[in-house]
Amino acid sequence: MRRLGFADKRITNYAETAATLGVAPMVRTSKNRAFYQSATKSVHIAKNPNDWYGARQTIAHELGHAWLDQYASPNPDAWREIREAMKQDWARWQSWLDRLIPGWRNIGRSNLHEAFAQHIYQTSFHALPMPARKRVSRILDYIAAITRGRYGAGHPKSYWANPTFPEHEAIAHATEAYVSGDTWWLQISSAVAEWFYQRTGLTP
Ligand SMILES: [Zn+2]
Repeated sequence: MRRLGFADKRITNYAETAATLGVAPMVRTSKNRAFYQSATKSVHIAKNPNDWYGARQTIAHELGHAWLDQYASPNPDAWREIREAMKQDWARWQSWLDRLIPGWRNIGRSNLHEAFAQHIYQTSFHALPMPARKRVSRILDYIAAITRGRYGAGHPKSYWANPTFPEHEAIAHATEAYVSGDTWWLQISSAVAEWFYQRTGLTP
């Protein structure tokens, strides 16, 4: 394990904040996986920054899990608060989705990435650069988190049955959006974003 050497200022700021809150951002290199391990308080990402599991958005995402794991331990109200914020944001999400992607509820799971890439970027998902692919995936996995797998795509439905997993992903995605400068995601998820800013002490 080694300490992450963050090149990006927003990640540096976030890593410092996370460290202040008792999270030690650590990494072990591994292939084709990225995750936060609660038992060892360690963030695991792929070595290659061009890899899906080594991208800066992924580092930010896993740091978000690390921060929330340690924040919620002495603050168990966090789960209910995040759940309520997600519910509050869902109306805004649905009106955005209805406007941009008519019939999005009926698009098959395997076609969602392509459909969203076409609607948002007028380009095929696989032709998009990493930040845009991450953004499409962030939207789809977050829709899945809010609806516990009824809509969206990303983690499988069985994953969302675990208590607190949707809330965990909400904050990991908020962290990812924050570090990526995805102000759109943070605006449409404004209740979750507000909770995130207040509790981490970060500023928009
Ligand atoms: Zn996650």
